[in-house]
Amino acid sequence: MSGETIFAPASGPGRAGLAVIRVSGPQAAFALSRLTGRETPTARRATGRRFVAQDGEVIDEGLALWFPAPASFTGEDVAELHVHGGRAVVGGVLEALACCEGLRPAELGEFTRRAFEHGKLDLTAAEALADLVNAETAGQRRQALRQMQGELGALYDSWRGGLLRVIAHLEATIDFSDEDLPEGIEEEVRGQVVRLSGEIAGHLEDGHRGERLRDGIHLAIIGPPNAGKSSLLNVIARREAAIVSKQPGTTRDVVEVALDVGGYPVVIADTAGLRDGAEDVEKEGVRRARMRAEDADITLAVFDGAVWPAVDPLTVALVNSKTIAVVNKSDLGRLEPPVDIGGFAALAVSALTGEGIEAMIATVEQDVAARFHLQGTPALTRVRHRAALEDCCGALQRGLAAEGVELMAEDLRLASRALGRITGRVDVEEILDVIFRDFCIGK
Ligand code: GDP
Repeated sequence: MSGETIFAPASGPGRAGLAVIRVSGPQAAFALSRLTGRETPTARRATGRRFVAQDGEVIDEGLALWFPAPASFTGEDVAELHVHGGRAVVGGVLEALACCEGLRPAELGEFTRRAFEHGKLDLTAAEALADLVNAETAGQRRQALRQMQGELGALYDSWRGGLLRVIAHLEATIDFSDEDLPEGIEEEVRGQVVRLSGEIAGHLEDGHRGERLRDGIHLAIIGPPNAGKSSLLNVIARREAAIVSKQPGTTRDVVEVALDVGGYPVVIADTAGLRDGAEDVEKEGVRRARMRAEDADITLAVFDGAVWPAVDPLTVALVNSKTIAVVNKSDLGRLEPPVDIGGFAALAVSALTGEGIEAMIATVEQDVAARFHLQGTPALTRVRHRAALEDCCGALQRGLAAEGVELMAEDLRLASRALGRITGRVDVEEILDVIFRDFCIGK
C-alpha cells in the first residue's frame, strides 16, 4: 500500500443532491472515525453517519461506506462519504479531512493510478474509465464500457501470451541445441509469428474506427456557393443534440459543429463553396474545403436545386463512396425524383421547408452506424495503442528476417514488450504520468 492517504470529491463540482467524497490509503479508517466519532461501519454497507468538523460542529448528515483493502476500487482501504452536494458541505468535509494527520488532497487521476498499481485494472481499462466519464454519446459509452470491462486488454494480453510461449520455445532451442528437440520447431515458430503479425495488422487496419468514435467522426459539407450548405447545417444542428465538450471552431472558410447523431459523435464542417477561378483568399478557402473533403469520413455533397438539372462539376468530381449526395431547394419545384447525379442516387431536400431532411439525417445515421458500429472484435481506441502495435509488428517482421534463433528471439522479446506496454505489464513508468494526467481530480 502507498504510504499516503489521499482524498477528493468523486462527484462533479457545483450544486447537486449528493456529493461523494472518497478517501484512500492506510489512514482511511482513522479519518472516517475522526469525522464521524464512531467505529468504521460494516464493510460495504451504507451506514448513516454525522460528519463532524474538528471543533465539534456537525457539517452534515449522510452515509458512510467502508471498503477494506484489497476489495476496493484502489485496492487500498477506502472510505466513501455521501453527503449533500452543496459547496459549503463539501468544502467543510474536505477541510475536516485535510486536518486529519497523514491525509492530503489527491492529484489528477491518482485513485485510478493506485488501482492500476495494485493490479485492479490494466492501462487500457484505466483509459476506458476516463473515456466512459467523458463519453457524450451512446456509441462512445458502449465502446468505453467494453474496453473498461477488459475486452481490449484481454485481446492484447492473449497476443502477448502467445508470443511469450513462442519465445519460450525458441529459447529451448537455444539452450538445448539441436539434439533433444523435435524437428521443425523453428518452422512452427515462424508460422505462429506470421499468423500473429497478420492478426495485429488486421486490427490496425480498422479505418481508425475506435479512435474516430472516441474523438468524433468527421463529416464535411461540400458544394458550390449558394447551394444551401450553411442552411442545411443549421437545420441539422437544430435537430440533433450538440456535444458540449467540443468547442465549435470557426475560421474564414470552415465552421464546425459537434453533434450527437444517432448515438455517434459527429463533427460537421461547413466548408467554403467550391468555385473555380475565385479570388486568392477564396481560392485558399476552396483548397481547404477540398482537403477537408478528402480527410472527412463522410462528405455531404450539396447541389443547388435552383439551377437543376445543371450540376456543379467541381462537386461532382468529389463524389465518391463516402458521399451522401443531396439536391437542395426542392421547394422550387425543378426536381423530379429519382434524382440522379452521374449515376449516383441523390436525395431531394429543402432546408427551407424541411422536406427530405428526416431522410437525409437518417441516411447520415445509417452511414455512420454502418461504419462505426461496434463489431465482434474490440476496436483500437488510442494513438498510444496504435504506436505500440506498430512497434510490435515491426519487431515481428525483423524477427522473421533475422539470421538465427538468438536474434529472432531478441526481436520477439521486443515485440512482446511493445504489447506489454499497452496494458501496462512492462516498463511503463515513464508513460504513467502522461496517461493519468488526462484524468480529473477524484478519479
Ligand atoms: P451556402 O453558400 O451553400 O452555404 O448557401 P446558404 O445556406 O447561404 O444559402 C444560399 C441561399 O439559398 C440563401 O439565400 C438561402 O436562403 C437560400 N436557400 C437555402 N436553402 C434553400 C431551400 O431549401 N430553398 C430555397 N428556396 N432557398 C434556399
